[in-house]
Amino acid sequence: MENNSSMRKWLDDFKLSHPLVIAGPCSAETEEQVMKIAKELKDSDVSIFRAGIWKPRTRPGGFEGVGAIGLKWLQKAKAETGLLMAVEVANAAHVKLALEHDIDVLWIGARTTVNPFAVQEIADALQGTDKIVLVKNPVNPDLGLWIGGVERLYNAGIEKLGVIHRGFSTYEKTKYRNIPEWQIAIELQQRFPDLPLICDPSHITGNRNMIQEVSQQALDLNYDGLIIETHTDPDNAWSDAAQQVTPDALKQIFINLKVRKETDQGDDYNHRMAGLRINIDEYDARILEILGKRMKVSDQIGALKKERNVAVLQNKRWSEILEKMIAEGAAKGLSEDFILRIFKAIHQESIVHQERVINNNN
Ligand code: PEP
Ligand code: MN
Repeated sequence: MENNSSMRKWLDDFKLSHPLVIAGPCSAETEEQVMKIAKELKDSDVSIFRAGIWKPRTRPGGFEGVGAIGLKWLQKAKAETGLLMAVEVANAAHVKLALEHDIDVLWIGARTTVNPFAVQEIADALQGTDKIVLVKNPVNPDLGLWIGGVERLYNAGIEKLGVIHRGFSTYEKTKYRNIPEWQIAIELQQRFPDLPLICDPSHITGNRNMIQEVSQQALDLNYDGLIIETHTDPDNAWSDAAQQVTPDALKQIFINLKVRKETDQGDDYNHRMAGLRINIDEYDARILEILGKRMKVSDQIGALKKERNVAVLQNKRWSEILEKMIAEGAAKGLSEDFILRIFKAIHQESIVHQERVINNNN
């Protein structure tokens, strides 16, 4: 697949706003809920209404979606509001039902993009249609797999394409629900500048208080649109309650957002610099996260030494660690002086932690 300007033509054809705004609940719950939210989003920046009908839950037992009945509610919402309707599809049966109910936009979820069999089945079921299809990034940070998903649709003749960046799973606990790894989306954008790139701050953050910040970062990086989960009663949503915002909060987010103009030469510098700074911020946050975890292990070591009445300072072990770090640091282009300074500081902090545990007699 080569970059192709036809990929973004649908944005102009539908005269969709810049940035493109997709909003609506994580899940369709009842007909009343769908109609209420859609009506509140009608006269706003929103062009496309989203609602999950089939919900891929990580573990069984959660709300797995209302199923096909929800498609009727979306048809009704479309008739009453004129908004385009979007649902997630994960197999050929979903595609068939969505087509029968005149759904405008189909998105492929992160747990489906990881599976080429499933994506191919969806692409085959869509052959010959002219639906807009958006491919979420796979849950794992694999750019090839993400591009592969788009290619399967492109090869099936789907031209109205886009990608949704919703962040990536990690075992590490971070301030994000799914870490953004912005550089992956930026690389995709550089390889396919005409493939519309949409950010999903809801699933990246998992937290409604961070949506503004991540939305702004996406616009600074020249994303084409945002998909934001919106619910009239977020706290009582049947799925993803913590990350949904009210329609009023969504409006406020768009009032606050600084929307970038078309890129020119000067903007190219700003755009690239914004990308690099976001990466630096992300790595710094991770360094802090890891240092915090490392010190917790020091506390546990302190507790064990206390239990066994062992001295805090174990010089031999420490020299061995340093030697290893100097060698590994050199391979990464880090000077010996830097490694010595940084690990000395870490070691000192570690001793402070261990002594605190040992001297605490509780
Ligand atoms: C969703 O959009 O509600 C969803 C399930 O997202 P993801 O596939 O990104 O987890
Ligand atoms: Mn969701």
